[in-house]
Amino acid sequence: MNGIWGQFVGNLAFVSLAISLWAQLSIWLRRRFVGHEKLLFGLVAGVASIGSILLAVEFGPGIHMDLRFAPLALAGMFGGPIAAALSASLAILFRAAIGGVSTIDGVVAIIVVTGMGVSVNLLMKKRSPTLPHVVILGAAVGTLLIVLMAVLPTLSKVHALAALGLPMAAMNCAATIVCGFIVLTTQHLELERRMLETAFSQSPDYLYVKDRDSRFVTVNENMIRLYRMRTTAEMVGLSDFDLHPRPLAEELYHREQEAMRTGVPLIDSLEHIEGRDLLASKVPLRDKAGRVIGLAGVTRDITERTALERELRESKNLLSHAMAGMSDGFAMFNRDGYLLFCNDQYRNAFPLSGSARVIGAHISDIVRCVAETRERLNVPYESVDEWINEATSTLHRNKDEEVQHQNGDWHSIRTRLAPDGTAMVVVSDITVMKQAEMALRLSAEQLKNLAETDGLTGIVNRRAFDEAFVREAAKCARSNTPLSLLMIDIDRFKAYNDTYGHPAGDQCLRLVSKCLLNSAQRPTDIVARYGGEEFVVLLPDTDDKAAAIVAEKFARLLGEEKILHAQSEFGSVTASIGIASALGHVLQAEPNCLLSEADAALYEAKMLGRNRILSRVLADAADIKLAG
Ligand code: GH3
Ligand code: MG
Ligand code: MG
Repeated sequence: MNGIWGQFVGNLAFVSLAISLWAQLSIWLRRRFVGHEKLLFGLVAGVASIGSILLAVEFGPGIHMDLRFAPLALAGMFGGPIAAALSASLAILFRAAIGGVSTIDGVVAIIVVTGMGVSVNLLMKKRSPTLPHVVILGAAVGTLLIVLMAVLPTLSKVHALAALGLPMAAMNCAATIVCGFIVLTTQHLELERRMLETAFSQSPDYLYVKDRDSRFVTVNENMIRLYRMRTTAEMVGLSDFDLHPRPLAEELYHREQEAMRTGVPLIDSLEHIEGRDLLASKVPLRDKAGRVIGLAGVTRDITERTALERELRESKNLLSHAMAGMSDGFAMFNRDGYLLFCNDQYRNAFPLSGSARVIGAHISDIVRCVAETRERLNVPYESVDEWINEATSTLHRNKDEEVQHQNGDWHSIRTRLAPDGTAMVVVSDITVMKQAEMALRLSAEQLKNLAETDGLTGIVNRRAFDEAFVREAAKCARSNTPLSLLMIDIDRFKAYNDTYGHPAGDQCLRLVSKCLLNSAQRPTDIVARYGGEEFVVLLPDTDDKAAAIVAEKFARLLGEEKILHAQSEFGSVTASIGIASALGHVLQAEPNCLLSEADAALYEAKMLGRNRILSRVLADAADIKLAG
């Protein structure tokens, strides 16, 4: 029995060796026979299986026990159907060539075990095998062998299961796990190696290793492209002297030698090579004894980055020049309301809150400073918190404002929102414009007053009265309120002029207008010079009785003036007054009848002897009542 175990161990060693050898050689073989890895694996597994058969333990005449199943199952699992088919075929051919009573059972066992390896491979659905897979496969191989020994006729006849079943199954199981582990480890190492190799060769940076004499030992693909070479081998052994003009090569050489001599790495040193800006780092490499044996270099091409940075710098300079040179104040607030940028003009535009307008300040603090310093006029300082909230919340809104400061200056503040929520604020001094606008408004007002005022008496002139009459008549018509009109004519005024002269006449007209103004004192009353020595008084919302009171008051005030008029039968200046009154609805159709009725009443007063008041009430257009 010892002999059998010894042979089994020898067998295991052979199978492991074969798999191990294959694993070591596979890297080299794969490079030579790209795309044939599976066939290669099948071939090696087949050979290992044959070797195992050659070293088989002959249990009985023609009954061979060995570890042929481990490589076959692994070929199925790692290599798939192709590898399995090749390895199984080799094993079957060889087994058949040996012959013996159990040939058919042997062949069946080979097919079944290899088939199981393939099944595991298919079950994994293209996933890479892991150690648990290998262990499961080993256990499955052992179990399957026990079953086969029990059921295959020749093997069951010689009681193979009872005699050798367990060690046979255990050894094949162990061999499967050991060999599977070797394959897994090799595959793992190969994967790591390949990843490192790919990372090195395809890195976007320039990577290289140089020896102690600054000659290239290896370079990556970017280096080959930079120096327009075809393969890595072409660059191996070259130095910077072969690639660059002598002065540059010398400079690079001395720096590298210095780094290797001192052991101090060069980090991020700028190099200008082949018209490109490069950022180079070179780290000395040491052997196990600590001696520097070369250096590893990483160089990054920053040409585009430096160009972009330069452009950015230039446009930033241009922008700051523009900002500094512009006459307007400019500020940017981010979407959260913090001041990102502002020029000096912006700060200077706010004499009292300028100090609060610093980068990083929040709009609410700036607005609060405006409120505290009372910098801005026309701010509701009694509800200042509301105003601060309002001004803060409306920062992120497109708006145009015109604000006046305590010192009288005016500023226009235009706020515009950028798509990212940044608020851009332009502040312009509009004091001059505003002053011009106010002067213009004032002179327009004055012109309007002038156009509506009688030059001699300072009261409303005929033109303005006509407009006011149309307006007031329409208003009364709408509200159906009474409207009264007084028409006043100075008695014997021609004679007054003739006696006392024109300037005295003018003075008399002024006195008369003063008396009229003092008689009709409601804000809505309108006293106008109707022409020459005739005046009108329009009394909105006033009926005939109230109008008569106004007329009587005027006559009394004029009498109190005691303006001497020797040519008048009354001895002093008097006036005749015609009054017309009507309700709004009466005037609706023909408002001018109020004027004609007042005029008629005045005429009547003259006729009846002057210095009197005559009143007419228009009941409706057709019914004119005469009252004395
Ligand atoms: P009565 O109305 O009582 O019938 O007599 P009257 O003399 O007042 O009548 P009339 O309308 O003929 O005279 C109006 C005079 O008013 C003529 C003119 O000398 C005088 N007058 C008109 N406008 C002015 C003015 O602006 N200044 C002066 N001083 N006199 C004026
Ligand atoms: Mg007259
Ligand atoms: Mg007159």
